[in-house]
This record gives sequence, structure tokens and C-alpha cells, in this order.
Amino acid sequence: MGNSAANSVRCHICGSKAVTVFPQYQTFHRVTSDCKAWRPGGRMSVCNECGCAQAVLDQTWHEEAKQIYDAYTIYHQSKGIEQSVFDQASGQATSRSSRLLQRLQAEIPLPEKGRLMDIGCGNGALLSAFSGLSLGWSLAGVEVNDHYRSVVESITGVEQLFTCSPEEVPGRFQLISLMHALEHIPSPREFIVRLWDKLEIGGLLLIQVPDCAQNPFMFLVADHASHFFVSTLKELVQSAGYEVLVAANDWVAKEITVVAQRRGERASPDENRKDATRRHAPHEPPHPNPLSLGGGEGAQTAGEGEVQGFNVRIGPGKSLPGDGARASVDPFSMVSERLQWLSRQLETARPLAKEGNFGLFGTSIAATWLFAELNGDVGFFVDEDPHRIGQTCFGRPIYPPGDAPADSYVFIALPTPLAAAVKHRLERQGLKLRFEIPGPLPSV
Ligand SMILES: [Zn+2]
Repeated sequence: MGNSAANSVRCHICGSKAVTVFPQYQTFHRVTSDCKAWRPGGRMSVCNECGCAQAVLDQTWHEEAKQIYDAYTIYHQSKGIEQSVFDQASGQATSRSSRLLQRLQAEIPLPEKGRLMDIGCGNGALLSAFSGLSLGWSLAGVEVNDHYRSVVESITGVEQLFTCSPEEVPGRFQLISLMHALEHIPSPREFIVRLWDKLEIGGLLLIQVPDCAQNPFMFLVADHASHFFVSTLKELVQSAGYEVLVAANDWVAKEITVVAQRRGERASPDENRKDATRRHAPHEPPHPNPLSLGGGEGAQTAGEGEVQGFNVRIGPGKSLPGDGARASVDPFSMVSERLQWLSRQLETARPLAKEGNFGLFGTSIAATWLFAELNGDVGFFVDEDPHRIGQTCFGRPIYPPGDAPADSYVFIALPTPLAAAVKHRLERQGLKLRFEIPGPLPSV
């Protein structure tokens, strides 16, 4: 596992030039975030200052991202229906957005009235799930294009789909959500700094991104600018001035959820600039006092239960259960070990695929990547999502587990331990299939 410092490369979060590039990443095929195979040749790095794993955002990356978005098709494997989240015990599915909102409501009950802005709303999956809560909220969607305008604006409670920047959307909000959006944004810290003025005092930011610690396959997404771990996302949000209430990797499987609050007024612009360019020694946490930005003269720091309508029962510096952030983790090792883990999955799958009679369980990012790396030596796909069964993926049939050809090898294209749970559940069904799963993940 070699590495080389590239002087021309800067971290797009903290601006540091102390960035380490992982040369072996260039050899991997990649996948677009809408699950299409993408050519090898990407560049991936980790910042030695802020610890964030990231794509090298050179001209090639920007050109490729544009190509990907120009051809984007949302949830195309399931005809536009949001990816399901499976309960591993039962195999039952709920949408990712519904699961997230159920958990948010349980931990931080939402007030009866309010206004939500969903940035990167796509075809309205989160807005639709929020509408289903039947609160008297007014909802706004923000997207870069208006392909799904009629779908989004038909959701009960939606004011309008906005295609301007979020700062240009009129008024302020009690809740701003970024579902699988922040990892695409080339300047994520500045982006959420700019959202500050769109939030009411006491209002919440709700951010969900893939957890690359739990799911290293997400490193392979070509149009993701940043590859977050719980610790790096939490620090980014704190450094933008927000109070992090939740930084969890267990609200939704394989995802990081951050709930953060605008407490009071921001400190002076000079204070913010000072913080934005601040450097920290490796032994020092980058932002030891998350309240320092909001605690200047005249600040209205909300205490327990005082925040506008939100029944927030946790004080500064505490997190709800599920806080997976660990300051001691070395991001370089975390990335390096996970890239090696990806190589090992190919070493396991290649000989099986060459034998023939080989299928992949899953039709998303990991399965798409394996299909590309295995030169198409894949006879079929297996999926439990009813919206995908019966369709095709790269011209191969998608079977439910019970219909897969007997005595085939089926490689479960999910990160461990999720893959092991699926294997266990399917084996209890007595299927005549030989399941292979990825090896254990490096510990976090
Ligand atoms: Zn950095």
C-alpha cells in the first residue's frame, strides 16, 4: 500500500495541502451513484489535517461528474422507487426516508407546525415520507433541475420545487435536510455554512450520507466528492458552527446520520474565518469546543427544552445513543485497510465467477462494481426487493432467491456483517445455493 503526496492537491474541506493520494485506487473500476458501471482511473486521497477521505477534485473529476449527472436516472433499477432498507431479521422492507424520519421523531419530536427544506430532493422520497407524518408543515424541495417537478409538487404540503440555490429560496426553515447530497458537493463545509441563515434559531440540519467505514464499496462511487466517516462528518458540521446533537451510524444501516442545531447567532465573520483556516496538531481534536462559534457576545444559546418547538433534551457536548464518532481513529489507516479489503473481495469472487454458474446478490453499488471487475462473468442477479425482481441488470435476469439456478455460487455483494446476516437468513430457507460473503471488515 504505497502513497504519494501530491503537492498540487488540496483538501476541499479545510484547504490543507497535506493530502495523501492512494495510487492503487486508480486501478479499480468505479460506479456512478445511480448504479451504472464507470471506468477506472479515479484519484482518491485522505487529508492529513481534517482527516476527510475524498476524491481528488481535478478537472477530470469535474468533467466526469458532469457526464454522470447529465445522464442521471434516479433509482433506475426499481423504476424510480426509493431503495428499500431491509430489516435483516424479517427481510421486510421500508424506505430509507421513512426509517430515518421514524427514528428522528422518536428521538427529537417534531413540532406540529414548521417548514422543511429538502436539498437534493430528487423525485421527492424524503418529502413524501415527511408528508406521510401528517404534521401541518410546509415543505420545499430544492433540486438542480426540474425533471421531477410535477411529481414533487403533487406531494401534499409541498409549496414548490425550487431549482435555485438554497440561499435563494425565500424565508427560513425549522428543518433543512440533505439526504445523500452532501457527499456530492465539492465544497461541503462552505455549503452548510451558507445554510446557517436559512435556519431559524433552534432549527435543525438533518444530514445523511453513506458510512464508508461500514460500507467501503462507497469509496467506488465516481461522483462522490467526499467519503465520510462518522468522526469526519461530525467535525465538519461542528466546524461550520452548528451544535451536533446526533452523529450516529446505526439509525439506518450503512448510513451516517447527523442532526445538528443552529443555536443562537453566529459569531462575527472574522471569528468564522479564523476558525475556517485554523489548523490543529495531530494530537489535538480539531474543534474542541463546538459552542465557541455560537457563544459570542449577544448569542442566544438555547438551553434544554427551550428551542423553538423542538423538544431537545440533550445538552451541549452530549450525543444520543448511536454516537459512533471516535476521535482516536486514524483516517489514513481506515481508508488504506478498506481499499485492501476491496481488493480481497475481487480475489475471492474472481475464481468463483470463472467457474461459471455464478450470480451476485444485490443490484446496487457493490454488485455493479463486482460485475464490472469480473468482466461480466456473472450469469444472474438475486434480489429481494420486489421492485427489482423480474427485471434485468446488465442484461442478466434478477431472480428472487428461490428462483436462482440450483447449486450456483451466489456472492452476497453487501458489506459484512450485513452480508453474514443475509446469508444466515437465506440459508434457513433451505435454498440449494452456495453463498459466499465478503471477509470481515477491518475494525473501526
Ligand atoms: Zn482537510
